[in-house]
Amino acid sequence: MRTKLVVGNWKMHGSRPANAELLAGVLAARPYTTDVAVCVPYVYLTETAATLAGSDIRWGAQDVSSHAQGAYTGEVSAAMLAEFGCRYAIVGHSERRAYHAESDQLVAEKAQAALAKGVTPIVCVGETLAQRDAGETEAVVKRQLSAVIHLLAHCASEIVVAYEPVWAIGTGRTASPEQAQAVHAVLRAQLQAATGHGAAMRILYGGSVKADNAAALFSQPDIDGGLIGGASLKAADFVAICRA
Ligand code: PEP
Repeated sequence: MRTKLVVGNWKMHGSRPANAELLAGVLAARPYTTDVAVCVPYVYLTETAATLAGSDIRWGAQDVSSHAQGAYTGEVSAAMLAEFGCRYAIVGHSERRAYHAESDQLVAEKAQAALAKGVTPIVCVGETLAQRDAGETEAVVKRQLSAVIHLLAHCASEIVVAYEPVWAIGTGRTASPEQAQAVHAVLRAQLQAATGHGAAMRILYGGSVKADNAAALFSQPDIDGGLIGGASLKAADFVAICRA
């Protein structure tokens, strides 16, 4: 039985007062029947950890360096994230693949670096609209995931996967539950074939999830929760999704 997981991705949003209000709202609405986490900008990790410590809400980062340490100005290592109690690190978000030219191989190396320090990578995969229209969805997501599986080998069963169609992120356009389920089933079969543990692994859906579409998405057999961007910035919206 897979416990559902809902993760907020704050992206580059927030301020100290706004974060305090948001986290207070998320804490006040406990208990949840799902696992809940927030992935916050690095600079807010200390305060987030202090606020959430002692609760069952987890926190994490939105990226991690593929390097363990060294002369990599601006980078943050997995060991540093672990020091701040991070449970998760998002890797391969489409915004990083697109704006920072992150390759499948680099994403895999980031996932490996995170796991090496006990931080669970949330590996994002997803196709663009042009790729979907060209009938390439399955090939694209399988290629992205296979880079991670290849590098991590048997440890691949320890990752969380997030299917995030690029055309649905921040656009208000959501994959239908059936469209999302079809891709999740493909990903689960790939994970099962590679690790033997696919049935136990969590595959999240992300892309304009809101309170009013979350339940339909999350009730699909292979959708184990969500990675939530815009709707994770207001406590009422995020809480409603966690309860969906
Ligand atoms: C995301 O950034 O991971 C995301 C899914 O964003 P949104 O929910 O805003 O589409």
